[in-house]
Amino acid sequence: MKVFASLLVVIFSAFCISPAAAKVPPADLVFKNGNIYTVNGARPKAKAVAIKGDRIIFVGSNRGAQQYVGRNTRVVDLSGKTVVPGMTDAHHHLFGVGFREITLNLEGITSLDDFLAKVKARVDQARPGEWITGRGWIETFWKPPVFPTRADLDKIAPNNPVLLDRADGHGAVANSAALKIAGIDRNTPNPFGGEISKDKQSGEPNGMLLDAAQDLVQLHIPGPTAEDAERALLLGVKRNVELGWTQVQDAGGNYAEVALFRKLYGEGKIKLRIYKALSAPGKEAQQLFREGPIIGEHGHRLTVRAVKLYVDGSLGSRSAALLEPYSDKPDTSGFLTIKEEELRPFLEEALRKGVQIETHAIGDRGNRFVLDAYEKAFTSVAHRDRKKRDPRWRVEHSQIINPADIPRFAKLGVIPSMQPSHAIGDLHFAPSRLGIKRLAGAYAWASLIKSGSIIPGGSDAPVERGEPMIEFYAAVARKDMKGFSGEGWHPEEAVTREQALKMFTIWPAFAAFEEKLRGSIAVGKLADFTILSADVMKIPEIEILQTRCVMTVIGGEIVFEVKQY
Ligand SMILES: [Zn+2]
Repeated sequence: MKVFASLLVVIFSAFCISPAAAKVPPADLVFKNGNIYTVNGARPKAKAVAIKGDRIIFVGSNRGAQQYVGRNTRVVDLSGKTVVPGMTDAHHHLFGVGFREITLNLEGITSLDDFLAKVKARVDQARPGEWITGRGWIETFWKPPVFPTRADLDKIAPNNPVLLDRADGHGAVANSAALKIAGIDRNTPNPFGGEISKDKQSGEPNGMLLDAAQDLVQLHIPGPTAEDAERALLLGVKRNVELGWTQVQDAGGNYAEVALFRKLYGEGKIKLRIYKALSAPGKEAQQLFREGPIIGEHGHRLTVRAVKLYVDGSLGSRSAALLEPYSDKPDTSGFLTIKEEELRPFLEEALRKGVQIETHAIGDRGNRFVLDAYEKAFTSVAHRDRKKRDPRWRVEHSQIINPADIPRFAKLGVIPSMQPSHAIGDLHFAPSRLGIKRLAGAYAWASLIKSGSIIPGGSDAPVERGEPMIEFYAAVARKDMKGFSGEGWHPEEAVTREQALKMFTIWPAFAAFEEKLRGSIAVGKLADFTILSADVMKIPEIEILQTRCVMTVIGGEIVFEVKQY
């Protein structure tokens, strides 16, 4: 026994010193004295990591990392700062975020008067006839909380066409000049999947356009120039890396955007990873079916293998498709925005071509409709006829789910991709839209996880602000930013901090087929880290909102750093 034990010691010490003896290659970068949460079950905590090229080559103690320090190794002392795997926003609109920075940003306005004042200031600078566009207003906290009308806008903008998107993008208000250009009057029928809101008394359009009806005006607005698009993208990327995002999963768009990503990656101007879904159905999706996915270009920065569909609208605009009528407007249950005859063949082709589907579904009818459609496609296309056996199809938002449908996600292998900030914003008005009973399946994170689902977490920026700490806080606190939680908010649906961390790291990686590449801190994986000013796994909930990103590392490169922290 003694011989055996000493033999073990010999083997053990030989093993321990072997890297040094074998002269491990020196790292390019070593982080030491970190408070590192790895999201790797085999070794959940560490103090140091070593990086060579774009990969992690060591995770462990400060002493262990020392052997990787060579003459040209940069050593960064984190002095106890918290490190998590590079955070991912699983539902993001990158150009929307960029354009929010360069057009009229209407976020955070608290009254109709302020809204009109802000728009007027812009109109005053515009040339006659120039389009005024903007985004981000939300009437929920206005008194009274009613949509603005074209009459409101006509007072301040008689000569310029105006179209202003609600924050959720599912409704917009237009003035008379804009409606005139689009040829919309009292006789214009609602397009499929949309609604031209009309005044109850006069029957005239009141300016609000829901979902597909927005396009009737939108198509008359001159598109952004190539320069505008590039400027918006650079601003959007800059904002994201400063907030600590290392990848965004961009929900919708086109090949022109992909071409711009490639150009800017080629020029070294953007470093953020982008997992792109193309808008569908239509010509972009057809091109993806024809040409096949783009996977891991530019050092695993760019992947295009998914398409984004819509089956309904939003709860705020009452265009989400519900099984029963809205509690605060019993003459409507919302509406579906796609026909089953159109969806079925599309889904089957996607399965055969190995294209991932991301479908926007908000209402309980919308969610059931998607699950049914996915299930039918899975049954009708056999495994051998699929390019990818495990297609990892997603439902974006999955906000209101009939409790009977919750277990169907895990059973079908369908991934609910959800945005915690939607819950803490929407739960202020969801009780009136849905009634207390239907809230049982609303933003049901804990129930979904318990039933076996993973939940990639996202922000849906620019619908929401798009900040990782707001999302993390919303997921664990399920209270609004002031710490308020109302009747019917279901605090038991909040998640643990460990689960919340997974929502923004390994779960979005899985939802992008990248769980072997990123999403946790382990040897061999891409060196993506988000470094935070406080220990979000331990501090009181409300302090999460004051936590800042102090450094962002993508592929072993420090792409953002607060100089003094
Ligand atoms: Zn979205």
